[in-house]
Amino acid sequence: MTKLINDILSGDATRVWSIACAIIKLRDTAELDALASILDEITSSTKNLELGGMLIPNDKHLQFALRKLRYHRDGEGCLCRLYPEYMMFDPKDEQAAGNVSIDGITYLDGNWIDFYRCSCSICGSAFKVEEREYHYTWWGWRRLA
Ligand SMILES: [Zn+2]
Repeated sequence: MTKLINDILSGDATRVWSIACAIIKLRDTAELDALASILDEITSSTKNLELGGMLIPNDKHLQFALRKLRYHRDGEGCLCRLYPEYMMFDPKDEQAAGNVSIDGITYLDGNWIDFYRCSCSICGSAFKVEEREYHYTWWGWRRLA
């Protein structure tokens, strides 16, 4: 935990980027609480960092990590609501982490995955998740009513 906090406040682009990616996956409530409690400090210490990035600016990951901490701090609800806001949530990883279950996969031409149907393990919300590839693989999550 101290390492998470030291890294995110380090002002070192590589460490900040790698911790931002860890925060995006983080589900531990105590750790999220601790990070959310110093959110203002994190926001100001990362504000002018040059994070670089090739296909996707690394700042996108950081901004989403901050958004997640804000969402957690403000008690806005189940973390699955954030899936549609970030394109790097792989349903297979989320299932492996126990966050969702994949209820079905629809293929295009019998080969390519078109979309998944998933449900949140915590609140039961259902999602349609399109898998797309353009330079890299990304996923578009949409919550089904
Ligand atoms: Zn949920």
